[in-house]
Amino acid sequence: MSSFWFFEGLRKGRKTEKFPRAPPESPPLRPSRMKGEGFHECPTDAIAEGEWVQEKCIFCRRCEEQFKPTGEQDIFDVKRTEKILMRSIHLYRLDSGSCGACNTEFSAIFDPQYDAHRLRIFETNTPRHADAIVIMGIATDGMKEALDRAYEAMPEPKLVIALGACAVSGGVLGDAPLDRDMYDVEIAGCPPSPYTILEAIDRARGDSHD
Ligand code: SF4
Ligand code: SF4
Repeated sequence: MSSFWFFEGLRKGRKTEKFPRAPPESPPLRPSRMKGEGFHECPTDAIAEGEWVQEKCIFCRRCEEQFKPTGEQDIFDVKRTEKILMRSIHLYRLDSGSCGACNTEFSAIFDPQYDAHRLRIFETNTPRHADAIVIMGIATDGMKEALDRAYEAMPEPKLVIALGACAVSGGVLGDAPLDRDMYDVEIAGCPPSPYTILEAIDRARGDSHD
């Protein structure tokens, strides 16, 4: 089977996405989503006093008319950067209680299509080798100790990345696993796209693409 993909690659040429210079268009709005009554139906209280709150938004787009929450590439907030991680960054993923979709999108950044390795972004399966912990999902009792122990095991400097609305703010499922002042990077979305995840991680090590 692997030889099939080898010859497909030779036949079709390079298929990797041109990150970060070619972000995808936001998908067209599905007609059924346009029948909502606007921001009064926001399922996550992501509209407060008439303002859109990015970190709570799950981008259901019911409020398309008022706020145009497109879910495009720059829906993240990098609060702290570590330039020492510019040469390479190793990520440790911890699913504290997700629906699985954030996990899937995170896995996708390592696929040939997005190929995070060419950006010197790698995954490790032990927190002792990790530069950043990527937390996805809500707080669950069973994962609280695992989260604390993983964080303690990581060497300095370490970044804490919240991936998806559940990890950032609790989303539609529950409460966030950590206080927001613990996060160095918050990536909004439900789930965020691989483009958004790559861009946020790249910016966290001080790369502005300028
Ligand atoms: S797109 Fe976001 S802000 Fe708008 S209704 Fe959905 S969750 Fe609320
Ligand atoms: S943010 Fe959305 S996609 Fe990610 S774990 Fe929560 S419900 Fe699932």
